[in-house]
Amino acid sequence: MKEYRLPLIMFAIFEIVAVTLWLTKDNLFYLFNFSYIGLSISLGVLLFIKKYKYARRIVQLLVGLYMLIYLGLICQENMQIEGFWYYLFTGVFEAATIHYAVAKIFGPLIFGRGWCGYACWTAMVLDFLPYKEPKEPRRNLGWIRYITFAASLIFVSTLFLAKVGHIEHIMFWSFVVGNIVYYGIGIALAFAFKDNRAFCKYICPITVFLKPMSYFSLIRIKCDKEKCISCGKCKRVCPMNVDVTDNSRKRENGTECILCMECVKNCPKNAL
Ligand code: SF4
Ligand code: SF4
Ligand code: SF4
Repeated sequence: MKEYRLPLIMFAIFEIVAVTLWLTKDNLFYLFNFSYIGLSISLGVLLFIKKYKYARRIVQLLVGLYMLIYLGLICQENMQIEGFWYYLFTGVFEAATIHYAVAKIFGPLIFGRGWCGYACWTAMVLDFLPYKEPKEPRRNLGWIRYITFAASLIFVSTLFLAKVGHIEHIMFWSFVVGNIVYYGIGIALAFAFKDNRAFCKYICPITVFLKPMSYFSLIRIKCDKEKCISCGKCKRVCPMNVDVTDNSRKRENGTECILCMECVKNCPKNAL
C-alpha cells in the first residue's frame, strides 16, 4: 500500500486544482484537463516506484502529446509563451495563463522544473535524440534565453499596439510555426553540441520564469554525504550538468534540475 501513497497524493493535488478551477470558472474542461494530467503523472510516479525503465518517457508522451495535439492543434490554444502574453494582455485568465501559473510560475515552488522533465512537448522529442548524457562541457550561452524571451514579448505587444485584426488566428499559426522552429533549432543544437538538452540550456525563453522559481523548490534531490564516495557518476549522467552532491540551493546549475532521476538511478551507493 505504501507504494501507492505518493501517486495518490499527486493525483489528489491535481484533483484539487481540477475541481477548484471547474467550479470557479464554471467550465468542465478544467476538470477533464487537470484530471488527465494528474492521472498521467500519478501513473508515471507509480511506474517509477516499480522501477519501470521508461516511466518518465511515458508521462512525457501522455502529457506532451495531449498538449501539443489536443490543446494546441485541435483546440487551437497557443500554449507557448506567446499565448501566455496574449491572454495576459487581453486580461483573460484562461487556458494558457492558467497553464503558465500552474506549471511554470507557481508550481515550480513545489515541484521545481518537473514540467521540463515530464511534460514539455519540445523536450519530449529532444529526449529521443542520441545525446542523453552531454558529451561536451556546458557553454556560456544562457544569455540567449533573454533574447528569445524579449522577442516573444515584443512580437505579441506589437500585434496589440498595431491593433492587428484576427490576433487569435495569428496566435494559432505562431504556435504551429513556433513549434516547427523550436524543434528545428533544438534538434540542430543537440547534434552540434552533442547534448539533447542544449535548447533547454541556452534558448528556451520559459526558463526565465522557471529558473528563479525553482530555486525555492520544495522537492529537491539531496545527497547523503555519509554514503557518497565522490565517484562523479551522478554529474556525468545528469542531462543538465547539476552538481547534485552539493546540497545547498546555490549548487552548480541547481535551477536546471528537471527531476529526471537519472542521478538517483545511477548512484552506486544509493546516496541520492
Ligand atoms: S527548458 Fe523549455 S524546452 Fe526545455 S523542457 Fe523546459 S520548457 Fe521545455
Ligand atoms: S553517484 Fe552517488 S556516490 Fe557517486 S558522487 Fe554521485 S552521489 Fe556520490
Ligand atoms: S540527473 Fe539528477 S540532478 Fe540531473 S536533472 Fe536529473 S534529477 Fe536533476
